[in-house]
Amino acid sequence: MFTNMRPAPPGPLRPIPLDDAASIGDFRRYPGCRLVLTCAMCGWQKPYDPERVIARLHELKSGGHATRLGDIARRVAWPCPGCHRLKWRGGLAWPAGLTAADSKRLAARYRN
Ligand SMILES: [Zn+2]
Repeated sequence: MFTNMRPAPPGPLRPIPLDDAASIGDFRRYPGCRLVLTCAMCGWQKPYDPERVIARLHELKSGGHATRLGDIARRVAWPCPGCHRLKWRGGLAWPAGLTAADSKRLAARYRN
């Protein structure tokens, strides 16, 4: 899964500290954040739009908002482009260039 999904724009990411029990649905508490897959071996990262990932989980009937970030990372079947190994970590992070206004606008949208 995930291979045919359009990634979010590239740029430095600021990780959001979360514990292992965090689920992808938690993204709504951090408006504008991205789901980030990080290679545990070399640190290569790829951001995704969490709403699209949740939609994909629903499509595959394999999860949804309650799916843990760690479970999502374990399901990734493609090796890291940086080191060609297969050991991903899942997390949430702020994308580069996200402004306070963007975050506020998105927060309003999630409430509706
Ligand atoms: Zn790697």
